[in-house]
Amino acid sequence: MKFDLKATFTFSNDISSIKKEIENFVSNYSKVIIEKDKSVKIENIKIQKNQLSLNVTSAGVFRPHNALLQMKNSMSQEFGKKHKLGVREIVIENYEIQFALEKKPLKKVTIPFADVKSKDKLATISLKNVDEEFLQRNYIDRMISLVKEKVENQYYEGKGEFWKLIWESGAKKPVWTKDPTEEMVKLGWLKQGPTKGKWFYRPQITAIMKTMEKIAVEEVLKPLGFQEIIESNIVPFDVWLKTGHLEGMPGEFYYIAEPATRDAEKWVRFVDLTKITKEVPFDELKKNVSIPNAGICYAQCPVIYWSFKGKTISEKSLPVLVYDNTAISGRYESGGRHGIERVDEFHRIEPVYIGTREQLLKLREKLLDRYKHVFNKIFELEWRMAWVTPWYMTQAGKIGDTSSQDTGTIDFEAYMPYRGDRKKSEWLEFQNLSILGDKYIKAFNIKAQKSELWSGCSGVGLERWTTAFLAQKGLDPNKWPAGFRKYLKELPKGIEFL
Ligand code: ATP
Ligand code: ZN
Ligand code: MG
Repeated sequence: MKFDLKATFTFSNDISSIKKEIENFVSNYSKVIIEKDKSVKIENIKIQKNQLSLNVTSAGVFRPHNALLQMKNSMSQEFGKKHKLGVREIVIENYEIQFALEKKPLKKVTIPFADVKSKDKLATISLKNVDEEFLQRNYIDRMISLVKEKVENQYYEGKGEFWKLIWESGAKKPVWTKDPTEEMVKLGWLKQGPTKGKWFYRPQITAIMKTMEKIAVEEVLKPLGFQEIIESNIVPFDVWLKTGHLEGMPGEFYYIAEPATRDAEKWVRFVDLTKITKEVPFDELKKNVSIPNAGICYAQCPVIYWSFKGKTISEKSLPVLVYDNTAISGRYESGGRHGIERVDEFHRIEPVYIGTREQLLKLREKLLDRYKHVFNKIFELEWRMAWVTPWYMTQAGKIGDTSSQDTGTIDFEAYMPYRGDRKKSEWLEFQNLSILGDKYIKAFNIKAQKSELWSGCSGVGLERWTTAFLAQKGLDPNKWPAGFRKYLKELPKGIEFL
């Protein structure tokens, strides 16, 4: 890396009278640095009124921006006592950083706060007028990482996710080839919800979904010792900042805004306008709500991890096995919506596990066993498992370790006969199972007495279980597999409409 910066220190008072002293200080300071990194040069030292400006260049490991704050503190100490002088502010007027990229950018990279140029595998970012807060907050190092990540991502774009088959049930003859959602709408079991991607589940389909829930709990989670918890459905941004969701999928959240006030006075005009116009006075509303500071649950695990934040878990409690079956997931699926299988609001059970690597690898086998039992013996489903790399692993440097398969995600996919040929059509991911190493453990600073912890989760989508089952087995309970009929052999009679 090559660094070239021009910085100005502004002192609390005129320093021209102690010019020599300051020059000596800077020259001593640079000697100390050069001992650590020979490539560093501090030059063009100029002192004028209350300002000291200088150039720092380096071609090694030393990052000049990290030294400026240190230098400020040392100067304040040195001259504070002697001359009652402090450094009021540091400004980097110009800063050029040149660094090597792993690959040549395929197209121009842009980032906030800086100009990015590249030539072959060399990138240069130029910043102007960088202030102290910027330095303190470590933005510069993150900007360098972001350029690297963006170039890396250019090579993954359009390549699709990594996908490798690990198990398949073999073909099963479907009972029918219709789209279950369409048929259930016709039968009145289901009604499109009041807004996009939501559904109203009438008694028949509700009974089926509730059976799915029961099977997941009774056949998978309880036998493995999972304990139920109830979490909040509203996720504050700081939780998503830690898990990476905020930078991962900002376009998929349902954002939540709080009222700016509950003072009735402030809402009078809103109420009056509503009464007169019988419409929502959005312009008035804007004045009375705050900018969103949270979102509706996207997946349940982030808040579960948050609940362990900063805790030391007793060895006796390992592995921690918990699940949430209450929070409803909201995702803005936009053009991808279809039936009850890709919706904006869905019901999911999410088991989360925290334990040692060995505990989690063993647990994965047990979970796979129980899941197989459900899908093979109870649903008699045609399905398969594939090793995939999800988004949170695809960011630069975090690619799922597909060689050892210790960490990473398994997708469970079902054949959907209504979509056509089993070889050519897209199968439906109806759940997944991940082991994520220490990613979230570190993010939330979770510890054990002795053990090093890993974590993972599994997303059991109840709408997905339901459509996968119904797409293959039809809507007639008499034709359902015996294992499922043990749980549900008759549907509620529902409501008749004229
Ligand atoms: P997809 O690739 O289908 O969008 P995903 O990778 O976004 O799925 P995950 O974030 O891994 O899904 O969520 C885990 C589980 O949550 C899925 O296996 C599925 O059961 C369920 N799920 C996710 N998105 C939806 C949705 N829009 N509608 C219904 N269920 C969903
Ligand atoms: Zn999760
Ligand atoms: Mg998705």
